[in-house]
Amino acid sequence: MMQQYMDLKEQYEDCILFFRLGDFYEMFFEDAKLASRELGITLTGRDCGQADRAPMCGVPHHSSENYINKLIKKGYKVAICEQVEDPKQAKGIVKRDVVRIVTPGTNLNMQSLDESKNNYLMSIFGNKDNYGVALVDITTGDFLVTEVNEKRKLVDEIGKFVPTEIICNKDIIVCEDFIRELKDRFHVYISEEEEWYFDYGRCVGNIKEQFGVGTIDGLGIKEFNQGVCAVGSLLEYLYKTQKSNISHITKLTPYLTDSYMMVDLSSKRNLELVETLREKERRGSLLWVLDKTKTAMGSRLLRKWIEQPLLSKTNIEDRLDGVEELKNKPIISEELKEFLNPIYDLERLMSKISLKTANCRDLIAFKTSLEMLPFIKKLLNECNADYITKIKDTFDDLRDIYDLIDKGIINDPPISVKDGGIIKESYHPQVDKLREAGTRGKQWIAELEAKEKELTGIKNLKIKFNKVFGYYIDVTKSYLNLVPDRYVRKQTLANSERYITPELKEMENTIMGAEEKIVALEYELFVELRNKVAKEVERIKDTAYKVAILDVITSLADIAIKYNYVRPVLSNDGAIDIKDGRHPVVEKMMNNEMFIANDTYLNKMDSRFSIITGPNMAGKSTYMRQVALIVLMAQIGSFVPAGEAHIGIVDRIFTRVGASDDLASGQSTFMVEMTEVANILRNATSNSLLILDEIGRGTSTFDGLSIAWSVVEYIVNKKKIGAKTLFATHYHELTELEGKVDGVQNYCISVKEKGDDIIFLRKIIKGSTDNSYGVQVAKLAGVPLDVIDRAKVLLSELSNADIAKNTKIVCKDAVEEIATVKEEEINIEVPIEQEKEEKTEPVQLGLFDVMGNYN
Ligand code: ADP
Repeated sequence: MMQQYMDLKEQYEDCILFFRLGDFYEMFFEDAKLASRELGITLTGRDCGQADRAPMCGVPHHSSENYINKLIKKGYKVAICEQVEDPKQAKGIVKRDVVRIVTPGTNLNMQSLDESKNNYLMSIFGNKDNYGVALVDITTGDFLVTEVNEKRKLVDEIGKFVPTEIICNKDIIVCEDFIRELKDRFHVYISEEEEWYFDYGRCVGNIKEQFGVGTIDGLGIKEFNQGVCAVGSLLEYLYKTQKSNISHITKLTPYLTDSYMMVDLSSKRNLELVETLREKERRGSLLWVLDKTKTAMGSRLLRKWIEQPLLSKTNIEDRLDGVEELKNKPIISEELKEFLNPIYDLERLMSKISLKTANCRDLIAFKTSLEMLPFIKKLLNECNADYITKIKDTFDDLRDIYDLIDKGIINDPPISVKDGGIIKESYHPQVDKLREAGTRGKQWIAELEAKEKELTGIKNLKIKFNKVFGYYIDVTKSYLNLVPDRYVRKQTLANSERYITPELKEMENTIMGAEEKIVALEYELFVELRNKVAKEVERIKDTAYKVAILDVITSLADIAIKYNYVRPVLSNDGAIDIKDGRHPVVEKMMNNEMFIANDTYLNKMDSRFSIITGPNMAGKSTYMRQVALIVLMAQIGSFVPAGEAHIGIVDRIFTRVGASDDLASGQSTFMVEMTEVANILRNATSNSLLILDEIGRGTSTFDGLSIAWSVVEYIVNKKKIGAKTLFATHYHELTELEGKVDGVQNYCISVKEKGDDIIFLRKIIKGSTDNSYGVQVAKLAGVPLDVIDRAKVLLSELSNADIAKNTKIVCKDAVEEIATVKEEEINIEVPIEQEKEEKTEPVQLGLFDVMGNYN
């Protein structure tokens, strides 16, 4: 047996081998040491034909799932080895083989997975700087593929889907830094697979086989050379690990990264789209605000929508029409929610059915879900929006599948599918017949008991049953003298004797035979029924997707009513005009305070670059993020937190917000900031929206100011980028650019001075401030008064010192220089003198009085 173990272990070196011995899975040698450490189970030993005993530990078969999950969560792979022949038939040692390999990306245990997100396995095939990226969620059957031509974009794709496991080819694995970064950032399990996994011809073969096609031309992946290898290798990996058919993976969805709004990884994090930046929690994220979905499919789909906002005005309008209709018909949407509520995770149940791991209870859960579908379909009749009617017209309520399960499986079946008691009456004549034989037999035994009592006069004679003796007659000691000769004694107990009779045994054979047959037949019928359902995988998945869409738009309609959101007006004119915009998360998190709404105006012309000043804590970050979130929400098809919103569709949102030391990757704050700035400057277009918070603050003042300054110039320049930008800064020198550089406008967030303190008014107004109120904010934060007082003294001394003057002089010169450059470069037509005049009387948008210290 140990030899058998060794042979298998050799084939599955990178896995912990769970070796089935009786009711246990045993692990040996290094696996045993590791598992005992990781799982906290006792390490023992076993003779193995060598001088030393083999270290060994084991887990019971029935609770193995928990242990496997623990190991998977810690990033190990587990190979499950079972007996593959009936021990009764085996000659010598029972044959064993690995039946499945569980890895982080192929875990099928639904309990251990978060139902609100997909569990993706990703394959990356890198060839120079071209990457094919394929993703599969084996629990839902989702299968996606794309290609990117830059490492940075690859990281964005990884960040978008956050797979739990990645396989890749050697070319990528040799980039050690990159792999380390991936592991540290995403905590993914990454493994390099051998080159033949990615062989183009072999990959094409796998794809043709999986999707049952003669050529891959019709799958929309012909242009994806690298993508084909990513898809093919992923299939290869699934075949290797699953070892069973993966027929529920029926569809491959190719996508282009530029068919969606590009939200790069740091923006996804900074804007806290699906989890918060620090605690990595869902509470506090945009998803948390928007997700009122009722089903797991809906919840996953909403996450996908948030991660991939749309670019096409028509498609966005379609979704908005759907949301609007449900918003305006609250009775329908309430009913819809009621019908969606009992629907289980159809996608994951479907996968269990296809993978043959679904039991009767899963089928019943499936059936109860299907029961809701006709009601949903009927409700949709009352809707007129194209988006919804299209769903209704092609909505398959899967009634035949419901009927099939309903006729076949009892409503409250046991967990085990192998002990009978699962098939409904009248489903199959043979089951009914055998059941009748069983019942009749039991009746016969009851009659026999009565007859024997009478014949023998033994008043408390009983016919009982146990697994060892089958049926027997039980007679207590006090009646032994009445036992007739025809009784054959089987066992003597302290207070009674047990007997059998030939006729009793004969009947027992009939009853037991019937039971054995019925258990086998019921199992057979169950498997047959499950296979029938499995065949309908495409229909079921299609309906599940439609249910998910309805769930998402109902949720968005709900939120729109609850939080008073408005329908955004979309255009492709590049202007963003928001009246009374609010931050969806900050607003929801506020207890009794009022969120102060603010306006935003950005366009492609004279107002494309807003420089925002104001003290710390004034609300600059909140304001800028709110604009990004409103635009993003509009482009997923959601209503938005504003009084009115006109949104010119943007192609990308970039953010450079806050300073989080990326210690894990060993980069300093400033380095991280500059890397992100570099990425933005290289990839932003004139249709992008940029949110930049305090660029250049991680270095010395002059350095920082110079960098910030030149970044502004570069972005605002239409020949270079010309993107719409919100730029918060403490370098008030930058406000000099308004009026001198085309497109720049100054804004500030107002505060009111009250004696020594300040009051935050939270209102954004036209103009700028050169007072950072740092000392006042420090006081608010509870810095001891001694320190505050000393700081005030220092501040007034420093303000008079040369350093400040110097700064001003340098900046003044620079402005003049830029103004001349810009005049040639971007045609500033307004004479500088006139601009200066305008600046002395800033337009005031807000209701609040400003501090009066504009430049
Ligand atoms: P800054 O970036 O200027 O330092 P923040 O945007 O971080 O300031 O805002 C500080 C705090 O002020 C936020 O946590 C929020 O609680 C509150 N706040 C910001 N904007 C508003 C607003 N418009 N209405 C009400 N409270 C706000």
